[in-house]
Amino acid sequence: MRAVLVGGGVAGAATALALAEVGIDAVVLERRTAAAAAVGSYLTIAPNGLSALEAVGALDVVAAAGFPSRTNRMHGATGRLLGEVSLGRPLRDGLTALTLPRSRLAAGLLAEAERRGVEVHRGAAVASVAGLAGPDAGPGATAVLQDGTRFTGDLLVGADGVHSRVRHALDPRAPAARYVGLTNFGGITRGTPVAATLEPQAWHFVFGRAAFFGAHPTPAGDVVWFVNVPEPAISRERRASTSDAQWQQHLVELLEGDAGPAAELVRSGQLELAGDNTYDLPHVASWSRGSAVLVGDAVHAPSPSSGQGASMALEDAVSLARALRDGRRDGAAVPAALAAYERDRRPRVERVVAAGARSSSTKIPGPVGRRVQEAVLRLVFRYAVTDDRLAWMNGHRTSWEDQPAA
Ligand SMILES: Cc1cc2nc3c(=O)[nH]c(=O)nc-3n(C[C@H](O)[C@H](O)[C@H](O)COP(=O)(O)OP(=O)(O)OC[C@H]3O[C@@H](n4cnc5c(N)ncnc54)[C@H](O)[C@@H]3O)c2cc1C
Repeated sequence: MRAVLVGGGVAGAATALALAEVGIDAVVLERRTAAAAAVGSYLTIAPNGLSALEAVGALDVVAAAGFPSRTNRMHGATGRLLGEVSLGRPLRDGLTALTLPRSRLAAGLLAEAERRGVEVHRGAAVASVAGLAGPDAGPGATAVLQDGTRFTGDLLVGADGVHSRVRHALDPRAPAARYVGLTNFGGITRGTPVAATLEPQAWHFVFGRAAFFGAHPTPAGDVVWFVNVPEPAISRERRASTSDAQWQQHLVELLEGDAGPAAELVRSGQLELAGDNTYDLPHVASWSRGSAVLVGDAVHAPSPSSGQGASMALEDAVSLARALRDGRRDGAAVPAALAAYERDRRPRVERVVAAGARSSSTKIPGPVGRRVQEAVLRLVFRYAVTDDRLAWMNGHRTSWEDQPAA
């Protein structure tokens, strides 16, 4: 069996690795060139995502690019500690979670897939999908590149992210991504004395007066950080006409009134992600059509506030490969295996997206003001967002055991 994967991000690369584990050949079509892929800021992979990486034999590759994270510490604008939540139950070797550049995760997995014999085409932008309906509908499906080149597989996997073209090819009425009301900026401050003042292996969050701030010290003595600003989505024109220095000045003004090193870190740091609009995707009615299926953000994007998007994509990869393996063993056709994958994944991922939406909304100061909101958040972190209450999410472990029966 041959699969054509549209998109070589986390979901596409991990799916190629997982399919290889069950003897399915894959070709990956990624629109970015290698150089263009090296953009973005940092992300954290929770233990459930690490478990999925372990299942596809790629944990070591990713661990080499990151550093460990254990806990999230939440502060108010006055510097008061509102609560602390661990990043989850560690894996057997003690690893809790990993923080690494977002681009290194996808690039590392894709390079590993290539090393294991997966065919990868970079600079290959898919323009349309053929073979799903009409006279040329068949058991497989075809991805058509912008230059007209065609790649046909017994299976086509849309792993092309939250603004997925494949999702709309499968169902023209499929929803568009939803803007969650936050813009995103990320950067790094190198060799700063602030690093030594922050607890190691921890994210330090501040529910600031005008923006939400997160910072993590690295073992090398740097601090990586991000800022979420509650505001309308940033237009292409504004992004193109604003320099990094102007963005940094804007962020410093938003953070200056809050306690802690946020404003100083942004002022003396280097911006790596600017004016990124934050989206999620809560519910897609059809995950597959014929022999084509969606994985990762293309079908269920949690907002970045969930800290789970990459982990969900990694879990999808194993679930899909396992369903195809079981289907082939039981003599089922591809569409039946795709339905089994959707049954396995939909309840969990939709719950994660809902949790991410709640988490995003706490970053937007409400009409009650920050002081009242801080009192509420202290209760939330004492009773609602606790290690026990989050165990369903980050305590999940992936294995190659048979897919649960319908
Ligand atoms: C700022 C930010 C911070 C985040 N932090 C975290 C975090 O801490 N933890 C976490 O788990 N998740 C986090 N996430 C979410 C995580 O990055 C995503 O959930 C994850 O990248 C989804 O992977 P994906 O492969 O489905 O989509 P993507 O990463 O978007 O990859 C899609 C790929 O498809 C390619 N593509 C798109 N269209 C085409 C086409 N037509 N033809 C060919 N290729 C195409 C793209 O170039 C891209 O490489 C964060 C996201 C953002 C934006």
